[in-house]
Amino acid sequence: VKQLPGNQCAFFTDQIRLQALKETEIESDGKIGINAGQFIAHFQPKVNIQKGNRIVGAEALARWKHPEKGMIPPDEFIPIFEKTGLIAELDRSIFCEACRWLHSYLAEGNQPISIAVNVSRLGLLEPDFIEYYTKVKEQYQIPDNVLQLEFTESLALGDDDMFNHIVRILQSKGFTCSLDDFGSGYSSLNVLKNLPVSVLKLDMLFFRKSVDIKRERIVVSNIINMARELKIKTIAEGVENTETVDFLRAAGCDVIQGYIFSKPLSQEEFGCLIREMGDR
Ligand code: C2E
Ligand code: CA
Ligand code: CA
Ligand code: CA
Repeated sequence: VKQLPGNQCAFFTDQIRLQALKETEIESDGKIGINAGQFIAHFQPKVNIQKGNRIVGAEALARWKHPEKGMIPPDEFIPIFEKTGLIAELDRSIFCEACRWLHSYLAEGNQPISIAVNVSRLGLLEPDFIEYYTKVKEQYQIPDNVLQLEFTESLALGDDDMFNHIVRILQSKGFTCSLDDFGSGYSSLNVLKNLPVSVLKLDMLFFRKSVDIKRERIVVSNIINMARELKIKTIAEGVENTETVDFLRAAGCDVIQGYIFSKPLSQEEFGCLIREMGDR
């Protein structure tokens, strides 16, 4: 280990203090913000590339409209919320928003469209997790198999048995469960062996910085094949170019979520888009 000169040490201490300050601020502002309705859900369309590029649903992604700091992206507050536990509350408020939107969309006589929300590890560990999500789903009269819950791969790696058990209960209550960021961790394949999820979301890392595109495609198409044999649908995330779409379509991937089709949209924008699609 190289000895650091004194002033550099001071520099690091300052950095850490600054960081901690920022974190406490985000934490306390966050608490207030959730109650004040400053967090909103944007919807990113999911497109079925096997069926004429139709929009088949969306993922709800949290956005923070901070009264002084403006729009704050998730990467700046999610990791802090995860550390402090506030994330479970945020997950719930985004879930409620998704249900509220769906309720009014369905009340207009539209066909159901799948909406996915993210569930963090801490959210899942809340003792009333299943009860709360089921209650809200019923309150807003959301039909079965419309709401999708996205769990990250790292979550499934913690306690397999508990996770499998919860997923089974959720499915019996009419939720679809998906494994998010699949392939970004280490024991992905092992997890698939027992996990009862019905959707796999291929992490966007698969489509980034590949040294050798041929090798990338061998890996991806084999995961898609394996998933199909296990009766699991695949969603490819973070797709940005048409070559990848063409490849994924040929490989049998069902759905794509990426900038190639659309960025996350405000709820109004998303509503307009799918109504337009319905009119076609
Ligand atoms: P995620 O769940 O993996 O969501 C996908 C992220 O990829 C989103 O970033 C989305 O905007 C981005 N993305 C989609 N298509 C593309 C593309 O083609 N190219 C690139 N470069 N990016 C693309 P976002 O909205 O910034 O969210 C980041 C992460 O924050 C999410 O990753 C998720 O882990 C977390 N997050 C967001 N909202 C919530 C929430 O309500 N609860 C929890 N627990 N986590 C959330
Ligand atoms: Ca997600
Ligand atoms: Ca993801
Ligand atoms: Ca992610």
